[in-house]
Amino acid sequence: MQLCNSWNASKLHFSLDIPEVVQYKASLSTTNLSQQLSQSVTQTSINSQDEFLSSAKYMSIGDIRQSTEIGMFGTLGNIHKIQTNFGWYYESYNKCRKKVKIVDGQLICPGCEKTPPLLIPRYKIHVLVMDHTGSAYFVLFDTHAYKLIHKTARELKLRLTEATTGDGSSFPEEIEQIVQRRYLFKIKIIEFNIEQNSSFTVSNVTDDVNLINAFISSQGINKVEYEGVSANSTFA
Ligand SMILES: [Zn+2]
Repeated sequence: MQLCNSWNASKLHFSLDIPEVVQYKASLSTTNLSQQLSQSVTQTSINSQDEFLSSAKYMSIGDIRQSTEIGMFGTLGNIHKIQTNFGWYYESYNKCRKKVKIVDGQLICPGCEKTPPLLIPRYKIHVLVMDHTGSAYFVLFDTHAYKLIHKTARELKLRLTEATTGDGSSFPEEIEQIVQRRYLFKIKIIEFNIEQNSSFTVSNVTDDVNLINAFISSQGINKVEYEGVSANSTFA
């Protein structure tokens, strides 16, 4: 069956009461915006599942810490605490998303070397993540932190600035909610990590129980051993 853009052309090709046409017309009338949105959300979650399951080999936190291998790895861990001394956001130029610097008393974006006309706060949260094999420092950047907090850094900073007389430098309680919960992380190990034993950048993260369970079974992770680490935190 071929559908043409022109109504008249369509009419020429088939009579309007054949089942395919009825079905097609029904689908047109029921496809509303919320359906389209939920379809695109479903699509996104399928894509991120594929990404997690296909491209990340499991590595325990202890192994990540001692890794001499560069690459992307999936790991399961509990955010034990937030390193508050690093703050929770940085100011960026919206276009380049880089952290602005002060050069000769002027704000400069290191990406384009321009003075940003508008500064946007973005998340950069340093966390200590633990599993049954050890602990490591991870850094959650903007989009990944947003997935767990469900509010933008801009929203939180605005609220803090309005609520207190402060400059937004204290810690929003929304961020504390990610502590003592378990996540599936995708971690990028780069040469710098191996040389410096530094924090690992989070390349993806989820708290989706189905994704976590799918990852556990696809990687053959011993769930009993893994969950034995801490009695007060579970995946459910
Ligand atoms: Zn720039």
